[in-house]
Amino acid sequence: MSEDKTKDEQNKDEQIKKWKNLCIERDNNSDKENEFKYNGINLMKLENNILMYLSTDIKIGTIGKWVPIFPKEKAIETIRLIHNTLCHPGIQKTYYFVKNFIWAKNLYSISENIVKSCSTCQLTTI
Ligand SMILES: [Zn+2]
Repeated sequence: MSEDKTKDEQNKDEQIKKWKNLCIERDNNSDKENEFKYNGINLMKLENNILMYLSTDIKIGTIGKWVPIFPKEKAIETIRLIHNTLCHPGIQKTYYFVKNFIWAKNLYSISENIVKSCSTCQLTTI
């Protein structure tokens, strides 16, 4: 998705709009605690007016990269596309790949649902 399209999609999503405003508030008042911190690290930021998420792998303790936050519907579309393009990897592989490009609330369970309900995967795992 292009930057402009991402911006449009984000502005249509109430939750993302709320997060954006909180980010702006936070940036104007650095003392304020907020829901974006994990171990003192800010997990969200605005970049060219696009809300970005620091996609990390907390399990193995690596600091990841900044990826755009997608509304749920757009995330589903994108994860499906990635899952198909990669020739139908399992849940973990799909999730870890997707995380490099986008973030959405409940990204893992969205990925899980897509893989579990994928008709091509169901055909080949019988
Ligand atoms: Zn599949």
